[in-house]
Amino acid sequence: MTSRNEALFAQAQQVIPAGVNSPVRAFRAVGGTPRFFARGAGPHVWDADGKRYLDYVGSWGPLILGHAHPEVIAAVQKTAADGLSFGAPTAIEVEMAELLIRRLPSLELVRLVSSGTEATMSAVRLARGFTGRDTLVKFEGCYHGHADALLVKAGSGALTFGNPSSAGVPEGAAANTLVLDYNDTEGLERAFAREGDRIAGVIVEAVAGNMNMILPAPGFLEALRALCTKHGAVLIFDEVMTGFRVGPRGAQGVYNITPDLTTLGKVIGGGLPVAAFGGRRDIMQKISPLGPVYQAGTLSGNPVAVAAGLATLKLMEAPGFFDRLTTSTRALTDGITAAAQRHGIAFSAQSLGGMFGLYFRAEVPRSYAEVMTSDQDRFRRFFHALLDAGVYLAPSAFEAGFVSAAHSAQDIADTVAVADRALAALR
Ligand SMILES: *Cc1c(COP(=O)(O)O)cnc(C)c1O
Repeated sequence: MTSRNEALFAQAQQVIPAGVNSPVRAFRAVGGTPRFFARGAGPHVWDADGKRYLDYVGSWGPLILGHAHPEVIAAVQKTAADGLSFGAPTAIEVEMAELLIRRLPSLELVRLVSSGTEATMSAVRLARGFTGRDTLVKFEGCYHGHADALLVKAGSGALTFGNPSSAGVPEGAAANTLVLDYNDTEGLERAFAREGDRIAGVIVEAVAGNMNMILPAPGFLEALRALCTKHGAVLIFDEVMTGFRVGPRGAQGVYNITPDLTTLGKVIGGGLPVAAFGGRRDIMQKISPLGPVYQAGTLSGNPVAVAAGLATLKLMEAPGFFDRLTTSTRALTDGITAAAQRHGIAFSAQSLGGMFGLYFRAEVPRSYAEVMTSDQDRFRRFFHALLDAGVYLAPSAFEAGFVSAAHSAQDIADTVAVADRALAALR
């Protein structure tokens, strides 16, 4: 008998490319039928067949309080009742901007947008407009949304300009993007020595979360900050994933580095489409209509979306919020690592705040090349064993995972027990 999930997936593929509205949802990396979700509450989601899962995706990061937190839902309902959108300023947007600026000392001015892609695209345009330079530096394996200039992979050979990593991106859009290795401080120094005076900006995930999870090597972010300052380039921290996720002041707070611009998204919308870019006043003043760099959005700062984000961020002010989240996330990674050791499986894991990485390789990876050597076949089997047992991980070996404040110690212990059985079967 076909399940409701399978029927929906077949139906979806008739009208939506691959049946999904964002590619990784299609389960191509792990095989099988994507789960269509009908409902979520706290740490749980229910699929179209009524099966319950403990969720470690959290809509890819936003749901730091878990699904359908009653106070977030109430804020959305109350705001929606007064109208969905005005395309004119509202008080709640000012409150959100003030809160973001209070929490992240590197922000002096901030503008709200509706997706992380818009935030990074606008920040890159702003860096170029501010400096009058064209070259952008990014790092292989870091994802910054799907704007043309950012869909670029490393060129052949060291220190070459990039090639488009997607069809439809003109060579010209990639030609001004220099792709370097994440955590390679020497490569960075060489690039600045050669191209420094042409570099408009550097965009980086200060904690990389789109090639599984990779922490910055000691000195890497410091070198980045010093080189950008020396050469007058704009340092952009893309904290769409890490902002309010790895710590109360994001990765910049954890590593104590002040970027020139920061992009935010995911958690700041609490599950609705809110993102932002902000930073130094002199740079942000170049944005239209104060300055010549154009940027706009019909639904930017949408009051209903902002209400969800603001309610989420306020609930995160509870004393000890990040200590508890850090503790339960670490209990998850420590528990699974210990189980893998017992079963003699090459495995490692790490976490920061409510974000974690699981790797089917003996050592925690420090680079894109290293993470690519993890055992994808083992991940696939592990993923499906957990899915069958009611634990939902991201359907790819190269995604970070997320724990929410709604995950109890018992939920974590249950997950570790499920992982233990799955790992035993992988031997
Ligand atoms: C998710 C993500 C984006 C893109 O955000 P969207 O809202 O999906 O457009 C950009 N940068 C990073 C680091 C992300 O994790």
